[in-house]
Amino acid sequence: MRVADWTTPAHFFPWPYVQKALDRIDAVVYRHSITFAQSLHLERARSCPECGRGAAELFWVGISDPEEAWDAGTGRVGFLTLCENCRLQVDFLMDAELTDLQAEDWRAGRFYHFG
Ligand SMILES: [Zn+2]
Repeated sequence: MRVADWTTPAHFFPWPYVQKALDRIDAVVYRHSITFAQSLHLERARSCPECGRGAAELFWVGISDPEEAWDAGTGRVGFLTLCENCRLQVDFLMDAELTDLQAEDWRAGRFYHFG
């Protein structure tokens, strides 16, 4: 998916930053990791406010806050849901467990990009 040049409001992350997360998707593990993410977060995930597409039908991508946020102690890891129809960032579902893991790694100097 190409979102880098989308001009719709970027509610959670700048579009070029979302593009980087999309470009990092590993096709081999994507389905499994998103199925797992949905088992944890689907219940509270919003439907698209424009077209009503259900959360399970949206595109899910794992994403982490930029490095500055981790330096500031406010970094989050979670899942962004995208509606391709409406070119919208519908929801950001923070994953507390992954955020804690990455915060530990960050303090230990082992930052890696989740997703
Ligand atoms: Zn939509």
